[in-house]
This record gives sequence, C-alpha cells and structure tokens, in this order.
Amino acid sequence: WQQGVAAAGTDNSPLQIFVKAKKKINDIFVEIEDYVKDTVDYMHDIEKEQKIINTDKVKEIEEFVSKVHGIRDVLSRDHMKVAFFGRTSNGKSSVINAMLHDKVLPSGIGHTTNCFLQVEGAPNDEPYLVLEGSEERCAVESVGQLAHALCKEKLSESTLVKVYWPKNRCLLLRDDVVFVDSPGVDVTPNLDEWIDKHCLDADVFVLVANAESTLMVTEKNFFHKVSSKLSKPNIFILNNRWDASATEPEFLDQVRRQHQERAIDFLVKELKVCSSKEAEERIFFISAKEVLQARLAEQAQKTSTPLTEGFQTRYFEFQDFERKFEECISKSAVKTKFEQHSQRGKFIANELRDILDGIYNDALKLKEERLAQRKELTDKITYTEQQLMLITQDMKKKIHAMVEDVEQRVSKALNE
Ligand code: GDP
Repeated sequence: WQQGVAAAGTDNSPLQIFVKAKKKINDIFVEIEDYVKDTVDYMHDIEKEQKIINTDKVKEIEEFVSKVHGIRDVLSRDHMKVAFFGRTSNGKSSVINAMLHDKVLPSGIGHTTNCFLQVEGAPNDEPYLVLEGSEERCAVESVGQLAHALCKEKLSESTLVKVYWPKNRCLLLRDDVVFVDSPGVDVTPNLDEWIDKHCLDADVFVLVANAESTLMVTEKNFFHKVSSKLSKPNIFILNNRWDASATEPEFLDQVRRQHQERAIDFLVKELKVCSSKEAEERIFFISAKEVLQARLAEQAQKTSTPLTEGFQTRYFEFQDFERKFEECISKSAVKTKFEQHSQRGKFIANELRDILDGIYNDALKLKEERLAQRKELTDKITYTEQQLMLITQDMKKKIHAMVEDVEQRVSKALNE
C-alpha cells in the first residue's frame, strides 16, 4: 500500500482530464479574445475611412470583448465539486481528511460539523478561512484552531465556511477539486435550502454510511430530494467503519453482501440514477480512520499503530474508490462546466464570422458599383471622343470645301 500512496495523485491521475481540458479551453478563449480584439481594431480603422461599416456592428463586436473576458473569468474559477452527506459521526470529515492526506477538518467527539465546510486550494502556504458574507481572511494554524473558530461563531446549519488549504500540500486541491462537508442529515435540516445553496453545482455526491448499521430513512430521503432536483446525480456510497467487521470475521461476507444489495437497490431501483453494473462501481467498504492514520504516519515517516486484520484490503478498496471517484468527477465536470463554455465560444466565433462576412460582401458590392461607375464614365469619354473626331473630320471637309470655293472664286475674279 505504501507504493500505492506514492503513485496516487500523480500526473496520470484521471483528474488530469479536467485539468487539461480546462487549460485547452482557456487557450482557445485566449485565441478568441485576440481575434475579437483584432477585429475591433480593424473595424475602427476602416470605420474612419470607408462607409461600409455602421456603428451598430462595431458596438456588437465590442460587446464580444467583455463577453469573452467574462467567460475566461468564470473558467478560471471552474472546479470539480464533491459534497459529502450522511448522519453525524459516520465519518464524513474523516473521509475528507483521508483523501486530503492531512487532518484538515476537525473530526471526532465534540467536533460535530454544524455548518457547511468547503475546502479548496489556497495559492500560497498559508491556510485561512472565510466566513459566509465576509471578505475577511482568518488565519488558521491548526485543526484545533479551526474547530475553535467554528464553535465561537454562532453559525446556522446552512452557512458556508470556506477553508483555504495550501495547494502544494495536496494534489487533489492542486487539481481543482473542492470538498464540501455537511452537517449530519439527521439534524432536522432544511433540506431544500441545503440543496439549493450547496448541491446544485456539485459534480459528485458521497454518502458516508455507517457499515455497522443499515442506511437510514433520513439518509435516503436526502438523496431522494437531491435526485428530484438534479437529473441523475453521481452518487457514491461509502460504507465506513468497515474495520469494525474485523472483530466478527464469521459474518463479514454475509454483512457485506447485505449492505451491497441494499445500496444497489437504493441507487438502481429507488433513485434510478444508474444501472446495477454502474452501481457496483459506486459502493465501497472502507475505513477512513485507518487510511488517515496510515497516510499521516507515512508522511511523518513513522510506522503506524498496529494494523487491524484486513487493513490492506480496506486500504486498497479506499484507493479504488479514489480512482473511480476521480474518473467520475473529472468527466462529469468537463461535461457540465465546459460544454456550456464551448457552445458560447462557438456562438461568438460564428457571430464574428457572420459580421465579417457581411462586411466583406458590402465591400465587394461597393467595389462593383465603383467599377460600374468607372466603366460608364469611360464609355462616355470614348463616345465624346468619337463624336469630337467625327465633328472635326466634318469641319475639316467643310473648311477644305470652303477654301477651295474661295480659291476658285478668287482665281475666277482675277481672270475676269
Ligand atoms: P462526521 O461527523 O460524519 O464528520 O464524523 P467524523 O469524521 O467526525 O468521525 C466521527 C468519529 O468516528 C471520530 O471519532 C472518528 O475518528 C471516528 N471514525 C471515523 N471513521 C472511522 C472508521 O472508519 N473506523 C472507526 N473505527 N472510527 C471512525
């Protein structure tokens, strides 16, 4: 498993699908932005000299500059969001900490999460938190301090506290994954408000269940509500505290099968969010506490406390969950977040092309008109020249005749 720890989160992680797509789409928008700016400059140039462009068209293109800029702004903030739900003390915070390889969120007795906690990457080494509705960054040195800061504030259960954790301490945060921990679904919450405020943009939901008991109605109800508001949400079910099974190995297979069947039925038959085959890839039996302990010991280069029977299998299953989760979240986020951006990009590029095509056609028309005018003028000149020639020739003849006539008359008069 130690090799697994070293390999996890490297650049061949499925999260790179999202990271690379984000970079690529951003590069495309940089090009579109250049293209739009060039077009605006070009239009300003010809607007001064020619009459082909009207000011409305220039304004239309100028608006694209701010639109493209807006999309790039949203794009830079796009991330993959995973939200964790389940009853109090099932181990939501422990799962998040295990995935982050660090004790970021307070967990355990006395540290019940009583509001929504969002963990996302901070650009530099200093962790800090920001309370909802405030701009102030409160420095957090330790988990204890974070727990204290959260207890001190009288926060309502649907309030969001953002915890910014240094990106360089965790690859998942570096790759734009944002974690949301929720208060237990058993705290008589206002589920609709929760969902509207915190879930509509989540790419993946993780139900952290307790493997020592069956799924509760409160947990099920919450996901019924989620799936009525979102079409086919991606839901993973973690049967946490699976280390407890080690004490009763004779029931292990039977209990696991029972939990597995019930969880599959819940996803497939009740929620209708996936097929049975897909559901098998969404249900895991893990121990977040063990994984976290092992990862912390690994980081401190210490051997962890004596391992419970079956630890390795559970550790591998946790890694398997992480891999499937990464694949699912990055694909889903690319689709939901970037599909819209790419359609907007295509629309802007098409509009720009249509406007430029229009200008080109108007310019061609103007050229043809001018050529026609020039031809008319040349024709007129040629005609006048011909007329002039004819007149001149006629005049010449007439003068010639007159001169001859005069000469004859003069010689006749002289003779006489
Ligand atoms: P939350 O309220 O759902 O966020 O639950 P916590 O993560 O705070 O966990 C509650 C308690 O359960 C803590 O004391 C954890 O150490 C413990 N816990 C979490 N996961 C496991 C697990 O896999 N096995 C065992 N034995 N205890 C766990």
